[in-house]
Amino acid sequence: MPKIGGSKSGRNEDSASQDSEKLALESSALLNAEMWALRFEAICEATSDFVGITSVDGSFFYLNPAARSALGIEDDEDVTLLDSVNFFDLEFYSRVSDAIIESLIATGSWSGELRLKHRSGRTFPVSQVTTVHTLEDGSPSFFSSISRDISSTKALEETLQHQATHDRLTNLPNHSLFQTLVIHAISRNTRNGLATAIAFVDLDRFKSINDGFGHIGGDEALMEVAHRLTRAVRPGDTVGRFGGDEFIVLIEDLPPGDAEEIALQVATRITDVLRVQIPLSSSRSAAPASANLSASVGIAVAGPNSGISGDSLIHQADLAMYEAKAEGKDRVAFFDDALRITTDHAIETAGALSDALLQRQFEVEFQPLVDMRTGSIYSAEALVRWRRPDGRLLQPGEFISIAEEHGFISSIGEIVLEEAARWGVKWRESIPYFIVSVNVSATQLLSPGFLNFVSKALSESGLEPSGLSIEITEYVVLKDVNSAVEVLQGLRALGVWIAIDDFGTGYSSLSYLRDLPVNAVKIDRAFVTTIVESERDRGLLATIILMADALDLFCVAEGVETEAQRDLLLGLGVVFAQGFLFSRSVSPEKITELVADAVTKTSR
Ligand code: C2E
Ligand code: MG
Ligand code: MG
Repeated sequence: MPKIGGSKSGRNEDSASQDSEKLALESSALLNAEMWALRFEAICEATSDFVGITSVDGSFFYLNPAARSALGIEDDEDVTLLDSVNFFDLEFYSRVSDAIIESLIATGSWSGELRLKHRSGRTFPVSQVTTVHTLEDGSPSFFSSISRDISSTKALEETLQHQATHDRLTNLPNHSLFQTLVIHAISRNTRNGLATAIAFVDLDRFKSINDGFGHIGGDEALMEVAHRLTRAVRPGDTVGRFGGDEFIVLIEDLPPGDAEEIALQVATRITDVLRVQIPLSSSRSAAPASANLSASVGIAVAGPNSGISGDSLIHQADLAMYEAKAEGKDRVAFFDDALRITTDHAIETAGALSDALLQRQFEVEFQPLVDMRTGSIYSAEALVRWRRPDGRLLQPGEFISIAEEHGFISSIGEIVLEEAARWGVKWRESIPYFIVSVNVSATQLLSPGFLNFVSKALSESGLEPSGLSIEITEYVVLKDVNSAVEVLQGLRALGVWIAIDDFGTGYSSLSYLRDLPVNAVKIDRAFVTTIVESERDRGLLATIILMADALDLFCVAEGVETEAQRDLLLGLGVVFAQGFLFSRSVSPEKITELVADAVTKTSR
């Protein structure tokens, strides 16, 4: 360190005593200054902070040992021959230099973060305070800096930042980071006249992997999926994990004319690579195991001038993914105009549903179930209708799934159940074994209080439990098998019948039926429609009937429209059916008439 102060002496012969006095003073000041300089030097040499003094032209005056070592400068090297500029990360410096100079001019000092550079080229972050020291006329004389290596703080900050923005299992960008990336991508692509696409990837039946191989096996499969997705996309595209079995891909820089085509290629590669068996090393069993997966992918594309928000684009891809699922899974679907209209319609419908409930706009029709040998009614299924204030009558297909999605289904289901129970009591006065059937959606069945509601509806209407059948689809079981079994057992304990609706269209194997407290299966219309033409379907139907028999389940055929179908079914041993051949759904008053007819017929 250059010694602060300097030697200065003079002799005044006229006044020796004054001189000697002055000399004494001066030398004591000098001693003082030197002593302080030594003390400061000792502090500078000892501290682990980096202390440096730089001249106005940028060369060093002084660097303390900590600074020398951090920058890779030897102890005996003359620092005054070195240019300080070589020890900065200049790329970083260029970004902050304006602010530094501004602050030094305005306040005489600057503090903030910089990156310094070791001789080897390695850079590291420091937090630094720089001060300008001026001459008497105010012009700068030299700069002093004190800085501290903040690598470990930065690393910790980065780790925390990474954890907050990445999925722990797969290390892919998580939901929140992905949303930010999409927003940036859309605005960047908009500037460049390019399109952006999102592919929303949802694994099909992933739950069965977790159930079959445990969570460790499930995690292993998810990591492999992440790996495959990352390899399937183009360099520059980003894969993220949205949670659970949902992944998402951001496809960027698309020429607007080819955007759909390229996005489809990426999505097709994704479905292709996920179809390949995944070997699992951590399965519970000792034998080597593997998982079969597939994925449903929804694509949404935003052109350069779409003006769409990141969130909306992701939502559109999500909706398209549901479309891919609905079309049979393991496929790709686009968010197109048809889906846009459906979505707008769904939003409008959902908005109107709460009013509909308040104003009781729901009506219940009933469709007879008949004994095909005689054609007489023995049961009726309650089917809900929605009478809109403008007089239109909406069918369940137009609002049930929307009601499910928006949380209205339980309330609608309660109206139907009360209405059905009320009529059921009346019809049982004429036919004591008469059964009313009510459809119950998965959400309603699994909602808390469902069992209580059923027993309350029974006791308030006076309907005996054996006069009520609850129809559920296989989907209920798939959604949450343990809770479903518990509720179904509760219903059986009450004495209510349980039927599996739309049987044969579900996802899972037939084996679960054995473990369920179920009384009947209603064979889906899809099988019935084709039995006349298709021998294969006849065979399939025969197998279903055999199995139902073996499990001691009551069999009902749905959607019988022709006499040929009826005769074939009777030939296969199915006696009970429902379908337009016998009757469409009708008002409850009309059922009352049919019940009366059946009574007269049998008493004749
Ligand atoms: P589902 O339970 O399978 O009911 C039978 C559906 O098939 C009814 O349609 C009925 O009109 C129709 N159908 C009956 N026979 C024939 C036939 O011979 N040919 C043809 N083409 N169709 C026939 P709908 O009333 O439109 O009901 C559709 C679905 O909506 C029902 O299917 C059921 O899953 C659901 N649904 C109806 N009411 C309710 C309800 O109150 N709650 C719940 N959660 N779902 C309901
Ligand atoms: Mg039904
Ligand atoms: Mg059905």
